[in-house]
Amino acid sequence: MTIPATVEPPRDCPLCPRLHDFLAVWREREPAWFNAPVPTFLPPEGQDGVRLLIIGLAPGLRGANRTGRPFTGDYAGDLLYDTLIRFGLARGKFEARPDDSLELISTAITNAVKCVPPENKPIGAEINTCRRFLHRNIERFKNLEAILTLGTIAHQSTVRALGGRVASHPFSHGGCQKIGKITVFSSYHCSRYNTNTGRLTTEMFVDVFRQIRTELDARSE
Ligand code: URA
Repeated sequence: MTIPATVEPPRDCPLCPRLHDFLAVWREREPAWFNAPVPTFLPPEGQDGVRLLIIGLAPGLRGANRTGRPFTGDYAGDLLYDTLIRFGLARGKFEARPDDSLELISTAITNAVKCVPPENKPIGAEINTCRRFLHRNIERFKNLEAILTLGTIAHQSTVRALGGRVASHPFSHGGCQKIGKITVFSSYHCSRYNTNTGRLTTEMFVDVFRQIRTELDARSE
């Protein structure tokens, strides 16, 4: 099937049959939810103001899939948005609703897979298929300087979208590597599971953002 690689998939994107069917089930069950590919969250000044792109895995069922904004409405957003505000990359108040007063600053947030997957686990074919949208999303940001990937899947799909080889750019928490002119930072995903098990602590996440802030500041000198 030919679907032009627009920046965002169409609401009824048919490219991944399993995800398409899963969304159809949830549209029936919860008609008031967003239940569609979740678009990239942009700062008010639009795409040309974006210097940092954060790439998550996929919308959470009761989070982004319900509200329509990445990392909004489930636990994963709490640490992310608090940290963005702390480092001057967002302002306002995060209240886990798309109509709260939160605004991104020079930052955009997207997901490697745009539709909610069953059990939060996209399969390889879905990650590969959705990469065309990730690629278009990276391309649209003409002033992009840095990317933060959250978790191994987002990291590997991003490396591939940038034309790099995964073997040459492995994931590591706190990792920082240059691919072309973009500096790619990586962190364990800020999921409830990772924070509850202590795999990712607030300090570890804050340290990653300290590195990112230093890089962005150095690039604007
Ligand atoms: N919400 C998102 O939008 N992405 C994730 O990776 C997790 C939660």
